[in-house]
Amino acid sequence: MINAYAALEAKAELTPYQYDPGALAADEVEINVLYCGICHSDISMIDNDWELSSYPLVAGHEVVGEIAQLGSSVNGFTVGQKVGLGWLSDFCEQCDECHTGDENLCADLTGTIVGHHGGFADKVRANANSVIALPEGIDLKTAGPLLCGGITVFNPLVQFGIKPTDKVAVIGIGGLGHMALQFLNAWGCEITAFTSESKKQEALDMGAHYAINSRDEAELSSLSGKFDLILSTVNVKLDWNLYLSKLKPRGRLVFVGATLDPLDVMVPNLIEGQKTISGSDTGSINTISRMLKFAQQHNIQPIIEVLPFDKINDGITKLRSGNVRYRVVLEK
Ligand code: NAP
Ligand code: ZN
Repeated sequence: MINAYAALEAKAELTPYQYDPGALAADEVEINVLYCGICHSDISMIDNDWELSSYPLVAGHEVVGEIAQLGSSVNGFTVGQKVGLGWLSDFCEQCDECHTGDENLCADLTGTIVGHHGGFADKVRANANSVIALPEGIDLKTAGPLLCGGITVFNPLVQFGIKPTDKVAVIGIGGLGHMALQFLNAWGCEITAFTSESKKQEALDMGAHYAINSRDEAELSSLSGKFDLILSTVNVKLDWNLYLSKLKPRGRLVFVGATLDPLDVMVPNLIEGQKTISGSDTGSINTISRMLKFAQQHNIQPIIEVLPFDKINDGITKLRSGNVRYRVVLEK
């Protein structure tokens, strides 16, 4: 049996929940969970914001653990090996996207917490194709948030060819945003953080060169920066036409924060200056491995608040309140 914490219905507090995962499939790995980060996407799934949720729902997709069991056809891993699991738990391996190393774009992928039980548990299972071998020497306690939040903000730098000479802005300095500042600083970019007044100094300490209060209209409109890339990690609607006006010609506004509010973008704001709006969804297995090595090389570590697993509801409440500095990690 697997001992998990589940939401039994939308928006519910999590309660202890046991389930029988059945026999381990030939291509699966079972992981003993040591740590699991809490991402805002866990809350959106618990609340059924995206109408993707089924209950009981076991969230948790920033897993660090060790291999407990290997399916009969799994090669390349050993029992006891330290591994991670992020948003992906399986992909089809047959489609063009899987064949070209874009398995995060596979139309038939399994999300770790979408119709599948995740890492708010003592054990989690996944197809071996999605299990990440952790590099030797990585700090296990802080590694989990890199596996969803970290890869999500690293991937746009790779996908959109961001150069060290680029000026980049990050909107929202939460779990994702605080890792974005660290990655961008190591990448060599000039960085502006759009954040709350109380986090401005912390954003500068984490690698931003400028910090702007995103709730202060006067401060926002006086900003003269012209960005190559603006990365939005917020899950709310903001004045996107204003942010588009802060892009250079050919600049790009990338959404990783999953707001459901429609964009009310004025088309001339895209035409003038040939600007682009994009989205980006986690990252491929190979990009995750490259991101982990980059993080190790540049000493990039998520800033975390550690709680024992049985305080999971306190962690979720704190994340809902917006007061986490900067990621809650549950510890066995
Ligand atoms: P988080 O820790 O709650 O951070 C979100 C940040 O947004 C907050 O810390 C806050 O930063 C800012 N914010 C919140 N309300 C705001 C408002 N009214 N005005 C301006 N800024 C506001 O959440 P997270 O875990 O980083 O996740 C962020 C989003 O990314 C969520 O929607 C999540 O579902 C999504 N996500 C997407 C992917 C993907 O693959 N695309 C992967 C993971 C997560 P400040 O205090 O600095 O303003
Ligand atoms: Zn996530």
